[in-house]
Amino acid sequence: MTEQHTGGPRTALVSGGSRGIGRAIAVRLAQDGFDIAFCYRGDHEAAARTAALVEEQGRKAVHRAVDVADPDAVREFTALAQDWLGPVHAAVSCAGIHRDRAAALMSDEDWSDVVRTNLDGAFHLSRSVLMGMFRRRAGSLVLISSVAGIGGTAGQANYAASKAGLHGLCGSLAKEAGRYGVRANVVAPGYIESDMVADLPPRVRKQAADAVALGGFGLPEQVADSVSFLVSDRASYITGTVLRVDGGLTV
Ligand code: NDP
Repeated sequence: MTEQHTGGPRTALVSGGSRGIGRAIAVRLAQDGFDIAFCYRGDHEAAARTAALVEEQGRKAVHRAVDVADPDAVREFTALAQDWLGPVHAAVSCAGIHRDRAAALMSDEDWSDVVRTNLDGAFHLSRSVLMGMFRRRAGSLVLISSVAGIGGTAGQANYAASKAGLHGLCGSLAKEAGRYGVRANVVAPGYIESDMVADLPPRVRKQAADAVALGGFGLPEQVADSVSFLVSDRASYITGTVLRVDGGLTV
């Protein structure tokens, strides 16, 4: 049985919480009653804005610039978050980058930067909280992937491979953690309005939007709603799943 929440503040960790989807997740989980510790790469101004939005919900916010590709930095961030806010109940790996190029032309650096951030980063964050969750026999992980990780995308071999890797990681985590009452799930968004898609040329954007069954791009808040559900007791029998939040892009 997973622990049923009986009130009082809980703590959620969010990587990539300064902007876009990660910010929306931080705010949504704050609305759900979580105190929030989030990390980001370097946009301090955006991070301060997220922290203010969390605090507007009446919850605490702790934030640090941490490169999720650095395992020691992630360990330190988690330890700091626990010192300030208490044990972690939910961890959301949302930090992500893309460096798009045809595979035949892709540099080693573009490959490894993306895999180290998107895949290694999710592993580092998950590992940093698992033992604590096991000891308390409660907790939930959500890894933010992408529909690119399901079918692949031309020009995004590094990104698609890193996101597909999250699906394998999540399945293994779910199988290892289930006996401790700890759950792990993936949310795979389609096109979501954020800085990541802001520079799409209008023609490409229109083509992309036309391919979505519900029409148009989604909002970060719509992804955050699915994370809110997955970390809640309403999802207490859901683990190891990949939830597509893509407006029907991949149906
Ligand atoms: P944004 O580019 O808006 O935000 C990216 C976030 O990740 C920022 O908070 C950034 O910090 C942080 N970040 C980047 N690299 C690192 C790093 N090495 N260590 C720590 N934090 C880092 O992206 P989105 O909000 O659009 O995307 C969030 C997630 O959702 C990503 O994993 C992305 O792959 C995924 N996704 C997005 C889709 C979309 O259409 N937008 C579609 C499918 C999946 P800082 O602000 O300091 O740079």
